[in-house]
Amino acid sequence: MHVARTVAEFRAPRAALGGTLGLVPTMGFLHEGHRSLMRRARAECDAVAVSIFVNPTQFGPNDDFDRYPRDEPRDLAICEAEGVALVLMPPVDEVYPEGATTTVSVGPLSTVLEGAARPGHFDGVTTVVSKLFAIVQPQRAYFGQKDAQQLVVIKRMTRDLLLPVEVIGCPTVREPDGLALSSRNVYLSPEERAQALALSRGLRRAEAAWGDGVHDAEALRALVCAEIEAQPLARIDYVSLADQGSLEECRGAIARDALLSLAVRFGGTRLIDNVLLPV
Ligand code: AMP
Repeated sequence: MHVARTVAEFRAPRAALGGTLGLVPTMGFLHEGHRSLMRRARAECDAVAVSIFVNPTQFGPNDDFDRYPRDEPRDLAICEAEGVALVLMPPVDEVYPEGATTTVSVGPLSTVLEGAARPGHFDGVTTVVSKLFAIVQPQRAYFGQKDAQQLVVIKRMTRDLLLPVEVIGCPTVREPDGLALSSRNVYLSPEERAQALALSRGLRRAEAAWGDGVHDAEALRALVCAEIEAQPLARIDYVSLADQGSLEECRGAIARDALLSLAVRFGGTRLIDNVLLPV
C-alpha cells in the first residue's frame, strides 16, 4: 500500500496503475461503513484508492471541524487490511492553495435539507470531491447512502460537468441495534446513544407503514417525529419526505420514489439518517 501525503507523491504510483481504479473519499476515523465501500470498490475495480481528508470548507463556523475525530494509524491499518493500493492524505494548504477562488456548486439541490441547515456545506463537498476526482482520476467513486443528499448532489455534479467517473451509492451500514455507523457516534454519551436509536426506529416504523399502504406524506413524517420527540435529549433539525431526484418536499399522497431523511441533535452532536421509499 502506498501512502501519499502530498499530491505530488500520489501522481507517480497512480500513473503506474493499470486497469480500473475505484476511489473511496473519506474524512477518516474509519468504521465498518467506510470498509463496506472499500470492499465494494475492490470487488468492482482492479485497484482501490482511499482519500483521507477532513475538508474544512464543508464545515460551518459552528460545526465540529476542530474536534472532528482523527486516528491516522488505525485508519491506515484498516486500509491495508482492506487491500487498498493507494491512500491520499493531502495537507489542507495543498488542496486549497493560497489565493484559490474556484468553487463548484450544483445550485438548488444543495440549498435544501442538509444545505439549509448547514449553509455552504455542499459547495464545500462538491468543490473538494471535484478536486479529488481531478487528482485521483478514478473510473468509479463510491459513496454511502447514509449521506443520501450528498450522493444526489455528487451525481448531479458529475453529470453536469461531464466527469468521466461513475458514482456508485452503497447501502447504509448499521450497528446491530439499528444506529447508522458514523464517525460522530463517539461523541454520544451512553444516554444519548440509547435515545439515538429512535432515529432508525422511527424510519423503520415509517417504512413498515409505507409497506402497509400508508402513502400520505404528512402521516409518514408524523410517525417519525413522534418516535423522536418521545426522547427527552433529542432536538429535531428536520424530518423530510422528499422526491428522490429533485429533493422537493412531498405533500399529500406520494406518487414517486421518495427519500425519508432526518437530522437530529443530541447536545452538540448532530446525527443524520434516511431510508428510501420506492413506489
Ligand atoms: P465521511 O468520512 O463521514 O465523510 O464518509 C465517507 C464516506 O463513507 C461517505 O460516502 C459516507 O456516505 C460513507 N459512510 C459513512 N457512514 C456510512 C455508513 N454507516 N454506511 C455506509 N456508508 C457510510
